[in-house]
Amino acid sequence: MPTYKNGFIPLDLLVVFFRGRNDVDGDYYHALSPATYARHLALVERARRRTGRKLVISGGWSAYRPYAAQVHAQQIWGRGAAEPGTSSHGGFWEGRQTLAMDYGNWAYVYGNGDGRDTPDKRAAFFDDCRAVGLSPNLISPQRGYPDEPWHVVDLDPWSAVPASVDVRPFPEEEPEDESEEDEMKLKGLEYTRKSDGKSVFMLFNEGSGFYAEHEGVDGSYNTALAQAWGTGDWPKTTESHANVIKNALNNVRTSR
Ligand SMILES: [Zn+2]
Repeated sequence: MPTYKNGFIPLDLLVVFFRGRNDVDGDYYHALSPATYARHLALVERARRRTGRKLVISGGWSAYRPYAAQVHAQQIWGRGAAEPGTSSHGGFWEGRQTLAMDYGNWAYVYGNGDGRDTPDKRAAFFDDCRAVGLSPNLISPQRGYPDEPWHVVDLDPWSAVPASVDVRPFPEEEPEDESEEDEMKLKGLEYTRKSDGKSVFMLFNEGSGFYAEHEGVDGSYNTALAQAWGTGDWPKTTESHANVIKNALNNVRTSR
């Protein structure tokens, strides 16, 4: 495993995935090792699935922090900033290779959008960090540091890119709208009409309230429809149950 001095990781070994500018830092970038970047993406995706919100790395040098940026931070923050060359964002910390990210909006993402820091939110956020191989809560009073729940560490940044993490494009990808997909889906069912004993086939769509019925066709016709339209199997049900569904579909139609 290669070791790099704190703040001196060669930039071509890192994935630079964001560039920004603010008044405090001037021009900055967000960079991580490939493996840490993969874990970061997996964490963002987990957070989105759990909460529907987008976890983001804070502006400024909130991922890998090169030495010059650590010097700059100390000039601005004085004793509030780590001694240059010792920041846990610098790539070497507590005697080992590490990388770190600050997710400043974690309490917003894991709450109901209110941003308050509570034990429940911490537990959920920390769970998701651990699930993707990241270590939360290392900058904490229990370890003799200030309390920084937003600060998340990768203790193995130069591992192979983990194959098991679920990495999806980010942030270009819009969340899929699954409800819209459901709305498009046609379903089918079959019931026996009591009055004449005939089989009736009903196609319907729960999103729009659409339904149509047909009868007097053989099974292969329905199989062809089911395949062409992806309706799945057409379960057999009773006429009264079919009527319940039709009533519900009528309600969908009138309420749209
Ligand atoms: Zn930090």
